[in-house]
Amino acid sequence: MLIVKNCKSVWNNCLQLIAEVVGEQSFKTWFEPIVPLSLTNEVLTIQVPSKFFYEWLEEHYVGVLRIAIDKELGTQGRLEYLIDQEKNNESSRNSTNLSSGMKGSIALSSGIKTTSGAENSYKGPFEQKNIDKGVYLDSNLNPNYQFDNFVEGDCNRLARSAGIAITKNPGTSSFNPLMLYSSVGLGKTHLVQSIGNAIKEKHKDKTVVYVSSEKFTSQFIEASYNNRIQEFANFYMQVDVLIIDDVQFLAGKEKTQEVFFTIFNHLHQNKKQVVMTSDCAPKDLKGMQERLISRFKWGLTADLQQPDLETRKSIIYKKLQKENIAIDENVIDYIAYSVDTNIRELEGVIVSLIGQSVLNQKEIDLELAKQTLQNIVRNIESEVNIDYIQKFVSDYFHVTIELLKDKTRKREIVVARQVSMYFAKEFTNMSLKSIGANFGNRDHSTVIHAITAVNDMMDTDRKFKAMMEELIKKFKMKSI
Ligand code: ADP
Ligand code: MG
Repeated sequence: MLIVKNCKSVWNNCLQLIAEVVGEQSFKTWFEPIVPLSLTNEVLTIQVPSKFFYEWLEEHYVGVLRIAIDKELGTQGRLEYLIDQEKNNESSRNSTNLSSGMKGSIALSSGIKTTSGAENSYKGPFEQKNIDKGVYLDSNLNPNYQFDNFVEGDCNRLARSAGIAITKNPGTSSFNPLMLYSSVGLGKTHLVQSIGNAIKEKHKDKTVVYVSSEKFTSQFIEASYNNRIQEFANFYMQVDVLIIDDVQFLAGKEKTQEVFFTIFNHLHQNKKQVVMTSDCAPKDLKGMQERLISRFKWGLTADLQQPDLETRKSIIYKKLQKENIAIDENVIDYIAYSVDTNIRELEGVIVSLIGQSVLNQKEIDLELAKQTLQNIVRNIESEVNIDYIQKFVSDYFHVTIELLKDKTRKREIVVARQVSMYFAKEFTNMSLKSIGANFGNRDHSTVIHAITAVNDMMDTDRKFKAMMEELIKKFKMKSI
């Protein structure tokens, strides 16, 4: 009897074999959506919902597909894909012979066909975000992050200009991907969000999505549970600009990295812009696939550094100006000198300063700033020890530490010794007795005398006072 094979029966037989080999979940995700279209000679044509889908099959299931096709059509059997692609209107149809390794064939059918929202009760985070022009898309951008309120300084100049450059031609500049890195609180999120906001402003037709890597990961996990990996990936593959924050969070998450790799490649190949941030340089990222790290370096990598004094002053000034608060230059200086760790901390100090001022109905003056900063200054104090102070002061006065502890009564040495004692009292929690013990076993009254002498000189000698102020600033800048 002549058995007429048709595409459906052949594909069904293939599926039976495949179902035995791959897990239930994978079967549902990757094989059920496939539609057999035709069988001509030994060529079976199937339709897959997206290029991503096809690439996934190619990467993960080529072996089992080969076996199934062999069994059904013999070793001459070939599998051909028909891929829906939404935006690419060029069609190409390359047949593939599985025996020579599956190079996929790409062809087009009209329109994109995905199983979307309405047919299913699952409400994923990317649900219904099939991005057609005019369809609402939540970019997750915070409108408060703008280039306008991002203060430029030496510390961020390269990153900022690269950011501005890509807003002009997203995707097609050589800054693709743009990878920004720095330690915490130095403006990465602010900057990449500004890029997103500016692109939306300039290019109304472009779809921009900002996502933290943490959220990306949890969306991916949720999608896996709900058999929606394909939709998840499709969603991200359709955007024009993908901003992904804190990619170090993907470390050790193999599956998430895999899907991100596919999304990244797809976007990059299609000249879509990818912007990323990380808390360290790509080469130092641990638990990240090499192939991803090498992709990160394709475009431009720029770091954001700790802001210098001038930038800190401008940031303080700008933040206060926004709140319509005018304060003395002295106070700005004081805050800028005292807080040089990161900008988030600087903002924290400004916010609490404003809060204190409102609460106590007091102007923001040096006194209030000092009080507000007390906690931070305390932190410094606890880290500063007598050895550090002796070294710092002896360097400044060009005298040896031995001489500070010596009995010498030479004028310059006495002053350096007294200043060291003053610093020890100001910046440590040491008792007068133990301070004295550290200066050649002097007693506590000598220490009191030294501190009084320093205070007197500051009151009467303007030059000395200026010198002390400079010394204290330097000391704080070095010690924070
Ligand atoms: P990161 O993402 O690097 O941890 P953020 O972007 O969250 O840092 O920045 C911390 C805070 O400091 C934010 O409130 C941000 O607005 C502010 N900030 C950072 N850099 C600047 C800058 N150059 N100008 C103005 N504000 C800044
Ligand atoms: Mg951040």
